[in-house]
Amino acid sequence: MQLSLSVNINDLLHTDKTNLFERWAARPRVFSSGSMQDTFTQLKQAGIQGMELVVVERTTDADIAAVLAIVEQYKMPVLSIHMPLVKTFSLGLKDIAVLVRFAQRLSAKLLILHCPAIFKKTNDKDFIGSIKQYEDIYKVKVVIENMEKSVVTFYEKNYWKEPYFSGMCKQMGFAINLDVCHLVQSGGNEETFLKDNIQYIAGIHLSDSGVGFWAKQHLALGDGEIPMISFLQDVRNRNYKGVITLEIRGDVESILSSARMVQNIFV
Ligand SMILES: [Zn+2]
Repeated sequence: MQLSLSVNINDLLHTDKTNLFERWAARPRVFSSGSMQDTFTQLKQAGIQGMELVVVERTTDADIAAVLAIVEQYKMPVLSIHMPLVKTFSLGLKDIAVLVRFAQRLSAKLLILHCPAIFKKTNDKDFIGSIKQYEDIYKVKVVIENMEKSVVTFYEKNYWKEPYFSGMCKQMGFAINLDVCHLVQSGGNEETFLKDNIQYIAGIHLSDSGVGFWAKQHLALGDGEIPMISFLQDVRNRNYKGVITLEIRGDVESILSSARMVQNIFV
């Protein structure tokens, strides 16, 4: 298992190339205060081994070059790229071509896509076939993430309900990124999901959550209702070899304590 931290590119580069939604989604700003050196040192001490870089719609090659310089200077690799959040329902092949190129440039092995981006195009053989070609050419695994249950996703059970979501991923031949808080929020069971799908899971987004439609999500570990210790023990006991990415909207301290909690179970 590799422990990673979700980092928004605007936070890392101190830029604000976003619309309002992306600015909201970019919380917390881990790198906005203090020196970057100190922050990376603290993260490493807590057991963070890499980053998931959340890019935005207007991320450019120059931005990726700037990220690469940070990666090299602070010796903190980018393990995965996360698609721009605003493209969840409108990701095109051109967008995916850009994302796999970003991933290759940063030596990231995983590209995380929200499931509507793929599931909306299940019957588009050219679209799906081209993505599989990109996986081969760019040596990047495309990994599909389950959504929360919301007013936007309510009628699309494939986006959040089991076994529909995992069934779609398997049928289409894509690896799974299990977002534990989305799963629990939408009424799924995390241990059942692991048992049924462990060999298909390449990424886990980890944060705590309440249960139910209006539950608070992306909390620090221990601040929600997910039995986190037993879930992590289960992940460990199943010999999981993929990435666990902390996706927490909290301050740096809550991220550090969450990272320590994970590492305590895996050492
Ligand atoms: Zn997630």
